[in-house]
Amino acid sequence: MSCVEGHDYIYHGGLNIYDAEELLKVVDVWRCRRCGNMRLGLRGPEVLGSSEGMLPDISGDKHWVLFVCKSSSKPCFEVLQLSDTDKFVHKCSGEEQELHYVRGKGVFYGVDGPMASSCYVYEIGKIVRGYIDLSRTPPEVVTLIK
Ligand SMILES: [Zn+2]
Repeated sequence: MSCVEGHDYIYHGGLNIYDAEELLKVVDVWRCRRCGNMRLGLRGPEVLGSSEGMLPDISGDKHWVLFVCKSSSKPCFEVLQLSDTDKFVHKCSGEEQELHYVRGKGVFYGVDGPMASSCYVYEIGKIVRGYIDLSRTPPEVVTLIK
């Protein structure tokens, strides 16, 4: 299962990100057929088939997370690389907010803080091959992955 000489990626599937009827972005996922490492690309709905927008490769202890924030009138999202417990800064309506992520639990204000309201996180490996509609609260996820 060693991929020291490089991963052997094959296309795994896409995740369409909608705000109601509007397609905002498409996340493309390639997966290494030996170790399962995932490579992601992000493209707008208007550039189909483009390989621009490839995201930086991920390192071993991190996983891909789709973060959704609905605290503004228009929902926003980010694709993040996070460890099982991690912190990151989200900028929404000009305000920087440090958030703490705990895999399988969610997003919190501070290590022992309350759950971040209006924030949602998804492991991209679990919701790929489908779509998410950010206009719903909580966002609606439809995936073929079991
Ligand atoms: Zn690999």
